[in-house]
Amino acid sequence: MEIKKRAYEILDQTYGEGSTFRSGQLEAIEATLSHKRTLVVQKTGWGKSLVYFLSTKILREQGKGVTLVVSPLLILMENQLEAANKLELKCDRLNYTTKERHSEIIDSLKSNKLDVIFITPETLFNPEVQSALPEIKIGLFVFDEAHCISDWGHDFRLKYCKLIRVVENLPASVPVLATTATANNRVVEDLKEQLGGDFFVSRGPLTRESLCIKVLFMPDRATRYAWMLKNINNLPGTGIIYCLTKRDCDYVSDFLNKHGINAMPYYSDDSKKTELQEAIEKFQKNEIKVIVATIKLGMGYDKGDIGFVVHYQCPSNIISYYQQIGRAGRNIDKAYAILMYGQEDKQINEYFIETAFPKKDDCEKVLEVVRNHDGLKKDDIKFYVNIENREIEKALMFLENEDVVFFEKNKCYASPNDYIYNEEHYNEVKQAKRKEMEQMQGLLNTKECYSKFVVNCLDDLSAKECGKCSNCLGENVFDNNINLDDIDEALQYVNSLIIKFSPRKKWPNKKYSGKTTMEYINQEGIALSKYGDVGYGELVKKDKYENKQFCDELLGKSVDVLKNVVKENGIKALTFVPSLRSDIVKNFAERLAKKLNIEFLETLKKEPAREQKYMQNSPHQCENAFESFHIIEGVNVPKDILLIDDMVDSKWTFTICGYRLMENGAEKVFPFALADSSRNEV
Ligand SMILES: [Zn+2]
Repeated sequence: MEIKKRAYEILDQTYGEGSTFRSGQLEAIEATLSHKRTLVVQKTGWGKSLVYFLSTKILREQGKGVTLVVSPLLILMENQLEAANKLELKCDRLNYTTKERHSEIIDSLKSNKLDVIFITPETLFNPEVQSALPEIKIGLFVFDEAHCISDWGHDFRLKYCKLIRVVENLPASVPVLATTATANNRVVEDLKEQLGGDFFVSRGPLTRESLCIKVLFMPDRATRYAWMLKNINNLPGTGIIYCLTKRDCDYVSDFLNKHGINAMPYYSDDSKKTELQEAIEKFQKNEIKVIVATIKLGMGYDKGDIGFVVHYQCPSNIISYYQQIGRAGRNIDKAYAILMYGQEDKQINEYFIETAFPKKDDCEKVLEVVRNHDGLKKDDIKFYVNIENREIEKALMFLENEDVVFFEKNKCYASPNDYIYNEEHYNEVKQAKRKEMEQMQGLLNTKECYSKFVVNCLDDLSAKECGKCSNCLGENVFDNNINLDDIDEALQYVNSLIIKFSPRKKWPNKKYSGKTTMEYINQEGIALSKYGDVGYGELVKKDKYENKQFCDELLGKSVDVLKNVVKENGIKALTFVPSLRSDIVKNFAERLAKKLNIEFLETLKKEPAREQKYMQNSPHQCENAFESFHIIEGVNVPKDILLIDDMVDSKWTFTICGYRLMENGAEKVFPFALADSSRNEV
């Protein structure tokens, strides 16, 4: 009773006489203050932060310690700082943006001067903070986006699951509050098990009433582009277009801009931090119509007036989907969620599921290398194993998380602990994720209310028919015609996307020429298409594996692209990357030379070696190419030359072939490939 009374008093003081709690808020505060492990599953905008701020206020009045809020997102922290100020709570944050003030902040935590501290998981686990923790009196431990600690969830973060250890070390009298906007029963059960103790769950209805959902089957890229061209400007206000890969974000936003729709891409890329930050700021101020984003624009992003969310591709599961469409229509009456899907989306999502955990073999190999050294830099591991960099990283993260390896001063060491690869569990999780993908498929095919279908999948069974989605209405939510002209326009655009790739300038180590800088460097390369993409990318794939000859259409387009390069640089000859398995590239290069009216030269030979595609990282790719490509003796290499191959991936084949040509008299080598087959990045 006392808690309830005080809670209402504070609410009145802060928000005015007669203010009321939203359904469930007071219960959650009461549970938290009676030292329960409390889990709040409520839709974004419900007011989870009020629960922990108000609890903090009361705990502080009782003389308890600081509230520690672990939150993965910086944007989120900014929003919450404002809310805390309203309640006159003294707040600060520990993350990379406050790095230079860390010791000052830690001091005020030790002397119990702060009411609330926001911290990212990364900062929480840095040694400075870890060693200070025992001296900090914690009154309440909160973790936001709690679904991240469950690997059953859609958004599992390895750094997050270590939080459980911090919870385990807290005195039993310290209440723990976990919050999330998205957790199905499986995830709730998992959190219950992990958090232990007397567990209270606050669950609210998840339907967002303002949303009109529409699902559109759009088989290929050109159709989706054409749809966006016709419809984006008719959608209300500003919106988000979600793509599965960074590359698609760039393409879509470029395409829209070229056609009069103001768009900017947004994803995670450290090298473009300023541009990406600018995109968010402009979007926030409604200076652009759309932001084209990966899931990076996800958790906690709060803009109340988003009028639409378009999915350019289908997300892998309903929870992500729900979370993403939930960005729209927070403070407005009507908003649209449009889901486009096609066949290839499933393949991309399959790939993400398959690669969620590191392979057993990779973990063992990496661990063996670490065990054989007394401290090894992360970057040096690739010299000892033929494993892709990102897979090495992933293996290390899991090994570190299991305390089998540890880092000290940038070097990795093996601990005495045994390593057990929990294959059974990983397989179970993958299986669950496939089930979720099927659920998503269910949404695409359902004739029921879309909104109801989605929240039912999240185990909220309270939902009714929304009366707004295209299934409820039995008609189009709005006009969705596509102009044939727009499809043409889109196809032309897709086919005009030429990919330029910069040359490699460094050896992976010094064994090739005594230093890492290369003496001979290629010119910027050109790839005609993205391998497998609609348009030329599809043609390359088909011709390579089915027709065994590259068609005249590809030849014509290559001539178009190359004729200026040839003219501008006075190029008089071309050569090609030889293959032991087929003459398809040689044949193409010969025809290309004829059309470009330049000399066709056979300059390089290949020794039997393993196929380059089996080489997984730079040192291995470089070595394999270096040993297999040589110049044909006695050949006269011209000063400027085009170098033709069908595919470019790691660029080592081009790099070494160009190197050999320049070693033997060429001054400038211009690489050209029909398709870029390097992997899409998220
Ligand atoms: Zn409906």
